Amino acid sequence: MTHSCLPDLHPVPAPRLPLLSQPTPLQRLVHLEQALDRPGLYMKRDDHMELAMGGNKLRSLEFWLGAARAEGADTVLVAGGPMSNLCRLTAAAASVHGFDCVVLHNGEDSPAHRATSFLNRLFGAQVRFLGAIDERQRQAAVVQAASDLAARGRRPYIVGDAVVGALGYVVAAHELHRQVREQAAALRHVFLPGSMGTTEAGFIFGNAMLGCPFDIHLVSVEYSQMELAARLSHIYDGLRQAMGCAVPPLHELPVHYHMEFLGDGYARTTAAAQQAILRLARVEGILLEHVYTAKTCAAFLDLAQRGALEQGGCVIHTGGTASLFAQFDWFEAMW
Ligand SMILES: *Cc1c(COP(=O)(O)O)cnc(C)c1O
Repeated sequence: MTHSCLPDLHPVPAPRLPLLSQPTPLQRLVHLEQALDRPGLYMKRDDHMELAMGGNKLRSLEFWLGAARAEGADTVLVAGGPMSNLCRLTAAAASVHGFDCVVLHNGEDSPAHRATSFLNRLFGAQVRFLGAIDERQRQAAVVQAASDLAARGRRPYIVGDAVVGALGYVVAAHELHRQVREQAAALRHVFLPGSMGTTEAGFIFGNAMLGCPFDIHLVSVEYSQMELAARLSHIYDGLRQAMGCAVPPLHELPVHYHMEFLGDGYARTTAAAQQAILRLARVEGILLEHVYTAKTCAAFLDLAQRGALEQGGCVIHTGGTASLFAQFDWFEAMW
């Protein structure tokens, strides 16, 4: 069964626990416009939410925790590095909604890692360090931890299903579209980090439901274009099934890949990323971190400067602000 998927306030028929009580700001970057002498520059402030300094994972967590509650879970498990935004925001959101939370970090149990992971404990999560293991071993450890909990009579839910998480950004695309109409803004180009694909696929799907008002620019911060596209296509197809609505196939949609800001790879900073952090801090008083938002803003600034965003451009600030405080030494020769 397909339905027409008309845009409205509740575009996604799935269990959801509220974490955001209002739309995040769509901010016109007036000082940046002046500095670059380019009009029509916006930022969607997904780093501005009530919980834990915000971030894209909270939109996904509305649906992950919704699924957990619907399954009758009492404990959520989440895995990531000590600096992981996903872990930190899961710990905060789980606590607010009355779930126990277990955070599993790949990495050694060192004083530095404990310091980086501090906020997870602050939010009441149980934190475990798994040592230096790869992503596959980490996933196996999560599954093991879940079955240990189940054996003790608990009801665990593992956070991270990409299709469920992507629903948060289907909603975000509708939210941005509504704000653009309310503000009568001219806004064609939307920038997002290209990473695991959850956020990006959701936004692309939401945009497709709306008839593609936006051109979407993905700035790779992790994978090759081929790998990123494969991830997106997998999640996008999952969304088509979950949502049961008729949207065009991914390859027909206005999605642009920017590979030239990745540098040496994931979590390796670049000169352009450092410049973007300094520029946004000093021109707009906005904080970016190195892994995701700095490279994305570097691409946004570059295209704006070259006059490619005449029809209006918006970068989605996906958050991660707290991780900046574990990145002091990522700047070269600043102090
Ligand atoms: C996780 C994260 C991303 C990437 O989101 P994906 O859905 O994994 O692609 C981008 N920005 C920030 C700040 C994040 O924490």
